[in-house]
Amino acid sequence: MRLSRYFLPVLKENPSEAQIVSHRLMLRAGMIKQASSGIYSWLPLGLRVLQKIEKIVHEEQQRAGHIPMLMPTVQSADLWRESGRYDVYGEEMLRITDRHGRDMLYGPTNEELITDIFRSHVNSYKDLPLTLYHIQWKFRDEIRPRFGVMRGREFLMKDGYNFDVDKDAALHAYNRHLVSYLRSYERMGLQAIPMRADGGPIGGDYTHEFLVLAETGESEVFYDSAVTDLKFGDREIDYDDVGQCAGILEEFTTRYARTDETHDEALFNEVPEDRRRKARGIEVGQIFYFGTKYSETMGATVQNSDGKPVPVHMGSHGIGVSRLLGAIIEASHDDKGIIWPEGVTPFDCGIVNLKQGDDEADAACEALYASLKLLGLEPLYDDRKERAGGKFATMDLIGLPWRITVGPRGLKNGVVELTSRRTGESVEMPPEDAIQKIAEIYAAHQTG
Ligand code: ATP
Ligand code: MG
Repeated sequence: MRLSRYFLPVLKENPSEAQIVSHRLMLRAGMIKQASSGIYSWLPLGLRVLQKIEKIVHEEQQRAGHIPMLMPTVQSADLWRESGRYDVYGEEMLRITDRHGRDMLYGPTNEELITDIFRSHVNSYKDLPLTLYHIQWKFRDEIRPRFGVMRGREFLMKDGYNFDVDKDAALHAYNRHLVSYLRSYERMGLQAIPMRADGGPIGGDYTHEFLVLAETGESEVFYDSAVTDLKFGDREIDYDDVGQCAGILEEFTTRYARTDETHDEALFNEVPEDRRRKARGIEVGQIFYFGTKYSETMGATVQNSDGKPVPVHMGSHGIGVSRLLGAIIEASHDDKGIIWPEGVTPFDCGIVNLKQGDDEADAACEALYASLKLLGLEPLYDDRKERAGGKFATMDLIGLPWRITVGPRGLKNGVVELTSRRTGESVEMPPEDAIQKIAEIYAAHQTG
């Protein structure tokens, strides 16, 4: 993309409405614009990151054997009356009446719809296990929308639902989700720690929230600092392997890590004192096994191997796709702007032409731009007639992890400058070497 032809409405001033750094930087970098309270337009740069995150989620869900689909945003109230949640859900649900006077709602989640689809089409245990998911906009009329996309009213969520013949099979689905979530967050350059969460009215041990540690997080968390040393890495995983998935769950959830809802001071005190941490975190996902709660009330049964009808065991699993942008920025920025991890960056590298209009500099930039695109990379070429300082400030603000700077002086010696946004370190090298270096870096991130 050429910056002169792009739509990147960066702001020079700090927007006064933003209380936390991620919100401020998303507004300043021209990624989002508030449409009304807790509802945002996604400007081109913001959309690119959102789509990168979606892509990782899709790839990792499908790697785990989960099947994508798409359910609508607007739902009929009837199914929610059947499950008993229409009245229980309260004011967070946006209720709508259509022209025929029928009660509709903008879905805050999709358990009812998916259970209805399941009961209409699946009758036998032979069709199980089954996990369906979608990435769709949700609406929750939050009492206090704030922090930009972090707590919006309209937000993008991946929600997945597993259907299994019995509890053991459903717990394998639970473990599979935990593993796939660990992989997904790591690909986004994030450490999200699974923490024992509150099972709500259903109770039980089978729910974990994934938290990114950040001072601005809304959740209070308590953990053994040893959990922050755990890395999923590039280990091979067979999602059908019940033992392997259970082993990974154990590895990542045995050490003390809880949200304030489940915090147990006595247990916490068993953690060696120098490893006890109290901090704040951003919830970027949650997995849940809830047994037969919906299948019983809504009649989602299958015939088991003895020909007897049994209610299916279910779980639901969510990732806060749009919230993740805020979480990633909270975890990765400096006083100049955002620092995108390679896995989610809107463009792979920036090209800054220090002397736009200089024949040699222009030609070198064009050649770099073409070569990078030929390799399947996505450069952002700042080809505007602007001062170098302004160009650097924009690149630093929007946070591309790598920048190639091209100027007449370097070109005389046959070199350009490759700069890491994270470390600020610059190295001079021939343009071909810079291209190769960038290609290598991104090749290492192609895990999809
Ligand atoms: P919270 O406790 O933050 O209100 P929740 O537990 O109600 O969230 P879930 O139903 O578990 O949310 O939804 C799955 C994921 O969707 C959450 O882990 C979170 O990342 C994201 N999410 C929930 N509410 C919002 C919101 N208002 N804005 C943006 N993302 C959200
Ligand atoms: Mg939650």
